[in-house]
Amino acid sequence: MTVAPLRQDRTYHPPADHCPLDPTRPGRPETEIPEPDYHIVVFENRYPSYTGDQGRCEVVCYTPDHDSSLGAQSIDHIQDLIEVWRDRTRELSRLPNVRYVYIFENRGEAIGVTLSHPHGQIYAYPFVPPVLERELAAEARHHRKTGRCLYCDVIAGESSGERTVVREDRWLAFVPPFARWPYEVHLAPLQHRGGLLDLDESEDASLARALKVLLQKYDRLFQVPLPYVMAMHQKPPGRAGAHHHFHIEFYPPNRSRDKLKSARRLSWTSRAPKVLASARPRRPGGFAAEAGVKGPGAASSRINRCAPSCATLSLAPAADAAHLRRTSGP
Ligand SMILES: [Zn+2]
Ligand SMILES: [Zn+2]
Ligand SMILES: [Zn+2]
Repeated sequence: MTVAPLRQDRTYHPPADHCPLDPTRPGRPETEIPEPDYHIVVFENRYPSYTGDQGRCEVVCYTPDHDSSLGAQSIDHIQDLIEVWRDRTRELSRLPNVRYVYIFENRGEAIGVTLSHPHGQIYAYPFVPPVLERELAAEARHHRKTGRCLYCDVIAGESSGERTVVREDRWLAFVPPFARWPYEVHLAPLQHRGGLLDLDESEDASLARALKVLLQKYDRLFQVPLPYVMAMHQKPPGRAGAHHHFHIEFYPPNRSRDKLKSARRLSWTSRAPKVLASARPRRPGGFAAEAGVKGPGAASSRINRCAPSCATLSLAPAADAAHLRRTSGP
């Protein structure tokens, strides 16, 4: 496997039709990757928001194939990518001022991404981002009150399978009862794990399978490559976040094939959008049917109505475990 952290010392001006994330093909202008081919590549962003002691911004090219996608990769390839994500998490966590390593992918023009080449990014922040701060605080509160992990309780509440989108042997993808987007999905390990560094081999393989199936469901939903934000919520490096349960959040902005739910708000640092009346997928059939998600239930609207106070959170602090269990029961 080629994993090349490249230094970007040179300047160049690519032609407009030229993808900077393609390999440099013989006789073609040089791209960001001065190799004729690659497997997966990581390089430092040319125009980073954080650099040196401030942190890092890295670009992860999933594949040299311009017209592919993360969900189209083989299970083996996705497992290699998980290994790359883990390696970067480990390395970036060691930088002196780094307080958080955020792995994410923004996909599609609806999210404001002009580069269609399959790629994600990694920000190593000199602080814990506010969304994570609030999640960690909610988890700590829940743990003080109950002695349990909040997200383990959320997962236990999903045992009915009512909102399950993908069930793998070690991972579960589900529409959370506190979802803010019509097709929001959370993907979490069934066992309590803080982040990529805690996963064993079978959890890696299970994650790769779950990720692929979920992303394929997304693309089948409206028969278009569905735009989304994929946000990995790992625990911060060091001793912080002892009660954090690793999960990956997905936010497609679509309500339907052509209608977006105010995509300009779809930044993870932005103020939360108004909570949806129902977190359920709206269209009968398609994703909803595939996901085994039936019509809107009173339970899920209840928790969504209670959510404005906790709307900026992925894990609703007001919703204690009992509440979550009650509202997610059959
Ligand atoms: Zn490309
Ligand atoms: Zn847990
Ligand atoms: Zn989260």
